[in-house]
Amino acid sequence: MDCLFCSIISGEIPSSKVYEDDLIYVFKDIDPQAPVHLLIIPKLHIDSLDEVEEEHRELLSHILLKVKDLAKEFNLEKGYRLVANTKEEGGQSVAHLHFHLLGGRSMQWPPG
Ligand code: 5GP
Ligand code: ZN
Repeated sequence: MDCLFCSIISGEIPSSKVYEDDLIYVFKDIDPQAPVHLLIIPKLHIDSLDEVEEEHRELLSHILLKVKDLAKEFNLEKGYRLVANTKEEGGQSVAHLHFHLLGGRSMQWPPG
């Protein structure tokens, strides 16, 4: 399968890695939308949040439980935003499930 984020996980495409374990890979977004803009992705290829199943429960918990550690590491004590753009109208451009962790500036609402 030809997937950009799978190629980043395998190291075939270079990335600025922040964290890695058996289940997830975290790296800096190439086009940051905030002073801190990380992408948290499962090593398992899942197209989007719309394709997650019961069997992914532990993986999803693992991702969400990692967020505050990353926020602490990047000094986001004032707050941050976690985003999962999902499918076409959600603004997803890479079809490998990913969570954007954004921080270091005040976020606006509603998003565009
Ligand atoms: P989406 O638009 O699917 O929610 O998010 C995809 C994100 O991947 C975008 O923020 C985009 O900047 C980032 N991205 C796309 N290609 C690359 C790449 O080759 N390396 C890195 N580090 N980020 C990428
Ligand atoms: Zn993939």
